[in-house]
Amino acid sequence: MLDADIKAQLAQYLELMEGDVLLKVSAGEDKVSREMTSLVDELATMSSRIKVEMVDLERTPSFSVNRIGEDTGVVFAGIPLGHEFTSFVLALLQVSGRAPKVDEKVIAQAKNLEGTYRFESYISLSCQNCPEVVQALNLMSVLNPNITHTMIDGAAFKDEVESKNIMAVPTVLLNGESFSSGRMTVEEILAKLGSGPDASEFADKDPYDVLVIGGGPAGASAAIYAARKGIRTGIVADRFGGQILDTASIENFISVKHTEGPKLASSLEEHVKEYNVDVMNLQRAKRLEKKDLVEIELENGAVLKSKTVILSTGARWRNVGVPGEAEFKNKGVAYCPHCDGPLFAGKDVAVIGGGNSGIEAAIDLAGIVNHVTVLEFMPELKADSVLQERLYSLSNVTVHKNVQTKEITGTDNVNGITYIERETGEEKHVELAGVFVQIGLVPSTEWLGDAVERTKFGEIVVDKRGATNVPGVFAAGDCTDSAYKQIIISMGSGATAALGAFDYLVRN
Ligand SMILES: Cc1cc2nc3c(=O)[nH]c(=O)nc-3n(C[C@H](O)[C@H](O)[C@H](O)COP(=O)(O)OP(=O)(O)OC[C@H]3O[C@@H](n4cnc5c(N)ncnc54)[C@H](O)[C@@H]3O)c2cc1C
Repeated sequence: MLDADIKAQLAQYLELMEGDVLLKVSAGEDKVSREMTSLVDELATMSSRIKVEMVDLERTPSFSVNRIGEDTGVVFAGIPLGHEFTSFVLALLQVSGRAPKVDEKVIAQAKNLEGTYRFESYISLSCQNCPEVVQALNLMSVLNPNITHTMIDGAAFKDEVESKNIMAVPTVLLNGESFSSGRMTVEEILAKLGSGPDASEFADKDPYDVLVIGGGPAGASAAIYAARKGIRTGIVADRFGGQILDTASIENFISVKHTEGPKLASSLEEHVKEYNVDVMNLQRAKRLEKKDLVEIELENGAVLKSKTVILSTGARWRNVGVPGEAEFKNKGVAYCPHCDGPLFAGKDVAVIGGGNSGIEAAIDLAGIVNHVTVLEFMPELKADSVLQERLYSLSNVTVHKNVQTKEITGTDNVNGITYIERETGEEKHVELAGVFVQIGLVPSTEWLGDAVERTKFGEIVVDKRGATNVPGVFAAGDCTDSAYKQIIISMGSGATAALGAFDYLVRN
């Protein structure tokens, strides 16, 4: 199951195991069972610390990862290869007794959870948002005997996925009920379970020199530049990493030929933490007010004060806003082709949007699904010509230009899409199982109201130093009126805003 390179790397990790681990394997005669058993056996030959026992578990094929004489509740249903191989290796190490690389505070929060938590996460092996959730839930299971977690590969358990109506990954059930959908960190899961930090943790914070709001590329860069000036710096982020957490492959981050979004996001966080920056993750700002200092109120009620503020709250997927979109979200309406594409294998889907992201999505999906219908509002596609050429070379794609999406239809799940030919006014309907909305982004700036000047699109207006119309308030990245929205541009503007804020502090 494993090639020589992976085996060599794996051997080094297995050396780090601190105690014996028992893999309890539930296998049948099917192909997935045979492959799973051969993976487990191969591992057992690589480390004398790994023991294997055949048992009957709730799902077949599956296996659990246990301490000797004590079940941990960590179960993999299907074969944890692809993006989940790291989850499997981490589970082996953590169950063996190796300490996880997580804050002590987080470990205590997980250990202190009371009650019974039976988590099931539905994933696909090509989903780059899934491992974070799987690893977080595995860690919680290892730390707390009241928590169990089963990772279920949707491709190996198609009937279960269909019967439970799972149409997006990762989808997490808690004690059989829907818990979450999409990427989540262990801190986010704990916060959702009521074990996160509350307002009292922020009550007595001294004012900052620079307070950054938003932890994407722009915010991370602004925080690093500010902290390197030796001034008191804080960063508030709803979700550290920002949009790059949803980005599969990045090939235009100059000097790095290829990387993956989540990898870049964790490097950003690591780099910020190298400096004396007060990182307040999982916190949303809800109000800005300029008094003597700038005040930022968080959703948990805490009020932070700072001499200067850098707004870098970025952007998020734009909704198409037609009937059916909200109703069938995660029931056939999806926004992340890399994550959810495999759930539509062999089915018909539509992509709304003919820009670069829409056409990239259509090309990706065409390799997995039966047929892709692309709907573009304008008379021509806006995507780069190289993407259009590739798209038109595919035999299972139909492109409709100059059409307006009217409704996403369905009963329990999406069953079709209705659109209007704009030239003739004629209404048409296509039967399909999934709709991927790819019509760009909206700036996350509504929470500012009239506190700073924004364009009619909601973008914060900045000058060449990143300054807004409010003295001491700066902005950077995708939330501003910059002409182009890219990682490297956001990082550059984060640096500009931090230097602008420092200059303002020096002069005032
Ligand atoms: C699918 C996809 C693929 C992409 N591919 C590429 C690529 O290959 N190359 C490239 O250069 N660019 C790419 N981009 C664009 C790139 O990701 C963005 O330009 C970049 O992430 C913008 O950085 P940012 O820091 O301005 O904003 P974001 O990345 O959007 O980060 C915003 C931050 O603010 C936080 N936030 C939002 N509201 C609040 C609030 N009220 N309170 C506190 N925090 C808040 C968010 O949680 C997040 O931490 C891609 C984007 C997407 C969606």
